[in-house]
Amino acid sequence: MNERTTALITGANKGIGYEIAAGLGALGWSVGIGARDERRREDAVAALRAAGVDAFGVPLDVTDDASVRAAAVLLEERAGRLDVLVNNAGVAGAWPDTPSTATPDDVRAVLETNVVGVIRVTNAMLPLLRRSEHPRIVNQSSHVGSLTLQSTPGVDFGGVSAAYSPSKTYLTALTVQYAKELAGTAVKVNGACPGYVATDLNGFRGTSTPADGARVAIRLATLPDDGPTGGLFDADGAVPW
Ligand code: NAP
Repeated sequence: MNERTTALITGANKGIGYEIAAGLGALGWSVGIGARDERRREDAVAALRAAGVDAFGVPLDVTDDASVRAAAVLLEERAGRLDVLVNNAGVAGAWPDTPSTATPDDVRAVLETNVVGVIRVTNAMLPLLRRSEHPRIVNQSSHVGSLTLQSTPGVDFGGVSAAYSPSKTYLTALTVQYAKELAGTAVKVNGACPGYVATDLNGFRGTSTPADGARVAIRLATLPDDGPTGGLFDADGAVPW
C-alpha cells in the first residue's frame, strides 16, 4: 500500500492534464499519467520526474474497455487504492460542429471520449476510490456546456456545436447523477471549468495558460471533507448549469 496520496489524471501527457499532474505532484502526491500513446506518456512522466514529481505512467485509452480495466489493475497493484480521479481526457471533434452539418460519426466520436469514456474510467476506478479516506472525482467540463450561459444573450462561445458543447452539458449532468448516487459516501464528484486555455484542443487560441486552467481541477481534487459535491466550478466559484 502506497502511503502517498495517489491520483490518476486521464489525458495527462499534455495541456491542462499535464499541469494538473504537475500541481498535484508538487503537493507530494503520487500522480498516474493516464495516456494512450506510449512515447507521449513516457516523455511526460520523465519531464515530471525531472521536476521532482512522483509520476508514473498509466497506459490508458478511455474509449477502450480492456485498456481501462488494465489501468485499474495497475493502480491496484501499485497503490492498493485511488484517492483522486481527474477525468480530463477530451477531444474537440470535427470543426465546424454545427448541428445541421454534423455527421453521426463525428458526434459519436466526441461522446465516446468525453462522456462514455468518463463513465468507463469512473466505474473501473470506483472500487479503488472507495478504499480512500478522502476520495475525489473531478470531471473536466467547460463553460460551453452550461445551458444557462449558452442561452444568455450576448455571451459568445465561438460557435454553435452539435457534439463538443453538448458533450460537456452531458458531462455536467453525469457529474450531478454520480454525486447523487454517491451521496452518503466519502466520494465527492465535481465538475471543473478551466476557462479558455491555449492547448492543442483549440489550436492554441485560448487566452490563458494550461497552468492557470489546471487550478480549478486542483482545487476540486483537494477539497476538504466538508466541501461541495455535485457542483460545477470555475476560478470564480460556482458556474450555473
Ligand atoms: P489537449 O491538450 O488536446 O489534451 C487533451 C488530452 O486528452 C490529451 O492528453 C489527449 O491525448 C487526451 N485524450 C484524448 N482522447 C483520449 C483517449 N481516448 N484516451 C486517453 N486520452 C485521450 O486539450 P486540453 O485543452 O488540455 O483539454 C483537456 C480537457 O479540458 C478536455 O476534457 C477539454 O474538453 C477540457 N477543456 C479545455 C478547454 C480549453 O480551453 N482548452 C476549455 C474547457 C474544457 P493524446 O495526446 O493522445 O491525444
